Amino acid sequence: MALSLASPVTALPGVASERARHLRQKGIETLEDLLYYFPFRYENRIRFTPIAELRPGQVACVQVEVLTAGPLRLRRQQAFNLAASDQTGILYAKWFTGYRKRFFIDYLTRTLRRGRRVVLYGKVEHDSYRPGQLQILQPQYEVLSGDREPADSTESGRIVPIYEAAGPISSRIFRRLIYAALERLPATLPDPLPASLFARYGFPDRRAALAQAHFPGRETELAALEAFRTPAQQRLIYEEFFFLQLGLALKRRRARQLPGIPFQLNDAIREAIKKILPFHPTAAQKRVLKEIADDMQKPAPMNRLLQGDVGSGKTIVAFEAAILAIENGYQVALMAPTEILAAQHFLYACRRFAPTRYRLGLLVSALPAGEKKQTREDLAAGDLDFLVGTHALLEKGVRFARLGFVIVDEQHRFGVLQRLELIRKGLAQQHPHVLVMTATPIPRTLALTLYTDLEMSILDEMPPGRAPIETRWVQEDAAAGVWEFIRKQVRAGRQAYIVYPVIEESKQELKAATREYERLSQNEFKKLRVGLLHGRLSGEEKERVMQAFHRGQLQVLVSTSVVEVGVDVPNASVMVIEHAERFGLSQLHQLRGRIGRGPHPSACFLMTPGEVGEVARERLQTLTRTQDGFQIAELDLQLRGPGEFLGTRQHGFLNFRIANLLRDHELLSRAKQDAFAYVEEQPPDFAPTVDYVRQLWQQRYRLGEVA
Ligand code: ADP
Ligand code: MG
Repeated sequence: MALSLASPVTALPGVASERARHLRQKGIETLEDLLYYFPFRYENRIRFTPIAELRPGQVACVQVEVLTAGPLRLRRQQAFNLAASDQTGILYAKWFTGYRKRFFIDYLTRTLRRGRRVVLYGKVEHDSYRPGQLQILQPQYEVLSGDREPADSTESGRIVPIYEAAGPISSRIFRRLIYAALERLPATLPDPLPASLFARYGFPDRRAALAQAHFPGRETELAALEAFRTPAQQRLIYEEFFFLQLGLALKRRRARQLPGIPFQLNDAIREAIKKILPFHPTAAQKRVLKEIADDMQKPAPMNRLLQGDVGSGKTIVAFEAAILAIENGYQVALMAPTEILAAQHFLYACRRFAPTRYRLGLLVSALPAGEKKQTREDLAAGDLDFLVGTHALLEKGVRFARLGFVIVDEQHRFGVLQRLELIRKGLAQQHPHVLVMTATPIPRTLALTLYTDLEMSILDEMPPGRAPIETRWVQEDAAAGVWEFIRKQVRAGRQAYIVYPVIEESKQELKAATREYERLSQNEFKKLRVGLLHGRLSGEEKERVMQAFHRGQLQVLVSTSVVEVGVDVPNASVMVIEHAERFGLSQLHQLRGRIGRGPHPSACFLMTPGEVGEVARERLQTLTRTQDGFQIAELDLQLRGPGEFLGTRQHGFLNFRIANLLRDHELLSRAKQDAFAYVEEQPPDFAPTVDYVRQLWQQRYRLGEVA
């Protein structure tokens, strides 16, 4: 029976339910999925280097037979030793690992047994213990013999693709499966990429590209492969970017055709806006407000992203825009990622809108059911003008009478989907304007990918009168000095945060934070008023603690990272981040943004135990050097990669199968231009291409409505 890209992987020999299950966990169900599972590296095994020809310093691939192998205990770590030979000589190899990774040593002990044939790949050097001998430290390895399947032409005599294993499905099994799939598929495969683009870039067709990306010809340069620069790889990368961008372009076009609500802006409204301002806006705030107000007067709905570093004053700009909507007779929704932040926005709104007659509401799940019900009724009846809340706003029972403006704070914490859900609560024929705010500046590469359907505004100026923050990295054994510093600051009237790394807010982790709180409040800060804040407190308790800290009744707040976003207490001038090595760069920057919000010089202590890893060290040093959010975001992206950088919620957009935003940003720019031009021009193959994108988006991003 002829197979097609849509055939299930179980159509391949050797794939029964067990393997199918492991493949499914990698998102691989069809042959198409399998063929888009690409190697992350290649090995030149056209010819293995004989041991006799190895030279120190060379990166080599050898095929050897295991002579002896076994674990070795060292003082601070464990090691695994191997001696192996081919016909020409003996080579040693060694792996090291910390004690916690015992299982790795156990695994090596089980796999690398005497007599097994193994491929080793790594850098050759002198063996310092055995004069005149060579060794490879920490080589990549692969066992060729040892289970029932014999090695064949996918294994040697060619450039061999190396895949990430999926459970028991090793790189080698992947090679066999993919090879089998390519053999069984028809000679031509339907190619979704528009013909005009082929011609422009001289790309290979889809089948050839897939075949070469997995099993490159012998003449292919390894360096080009490793850099993902061969024509086959480039085509596949381009294809992936193009269809992502095409989906975004279609979405954007659709958004522009939707009926919006053209608001009126007149002098009376300008006056109303001025009335709520407690200070002179910065030039950046004025510019951004104008960009927003211009959009909101247009007949198409606004979709705008407001980027501004922590403390740059985004909230007040959003409130000004809210006035425009409310004065035009519409309702405004503000969605925040945490209850603390929602409550704080609500209180700030109550203060700012005090001179107006607007009716404000708060909706978070922690509120008593009766209160929530009342709020929902008022909202539906049009008796509320401005509703602040968390995800609770997205619940089914929440209906607006006339939703005209949606504000989403700290966008990076929500998914694109949630933004869309809130927008759908508008009237059928009038789509609300949308303003998305984020304090995690988005590096250009990501902006190109994720937010092409949004216009950008940037607040690149801090409000005046901010005292600088001095950031210091200190070891735990210097803690006594830090606590003394806090006592002094409190005596001078200031307040302090002590942040403890509780990432999951699990019971286990919370215990540590709670213990630290008890220890500090009974010892170092015995005479101070200390509070504890974490995510597991009830909404009411959180609120009470935050309020007490806000009013200065609490002098020291021990907290988990729930204070990360948005919390605004200008009198707080010290922050200690314990186990700072456990936080990400952007997160540390966000946390630090809680201080330095008033006129007092502020200090941030990044506290770590004796030893920290290299990446953590780079993060901490970066923070002591700079306070520039854009610079920090750019570095964070490089250190962690885009998926991690944005958090899992956005993963759908960033789970590229072969593309890599950082490596392939040039192709991304081209694909973006081409996709947007394609939508403008609508060439003859437009309709089938749009069909393909729609399907692809549904599968990959679970976002049906692109076109
Ligand atoms: P973020 O952009 O991090 O959300 P906020 O909107 O919370 O920042 O503003 C941070 C602080 O700066 C708030 O206390 C706010 O009242 C104050 N602020 C905002 N704009 C100005 C301004 N133009 N002049 C003085 N203070 C300002
Ligand atoms: Mg904010």
